Amino acid sequence: MQIHCTYCGAPLNISRKKAEAALDVLHAEDLAYYEVRCPKCRKMNKVSREVLMRAAPMWRPREAE
Ligand SMILES: [Zn+2]
Repeated sequence: MQIHCTYCGAPLNISRKKAEAALDVLHAEDLAYYEVRCPKCRKMNKVSREVLMRAAPMWRPREAE
């Protein structure tokens, strides 16, 4: 899916694979947002768990080991 940079409006592409990896990190570290760096202005954009879930609807949390 595509989001837009909050600062400069550049399109940021988040693949399903990337969203799944991001959700793994959010879940493991109990974070509310995943940060994606804009390739154009280099600022960090906060991507919420909700948005990531839309990009990776099949993702499920892994059981804690
Ligand atoms: Zn930007």
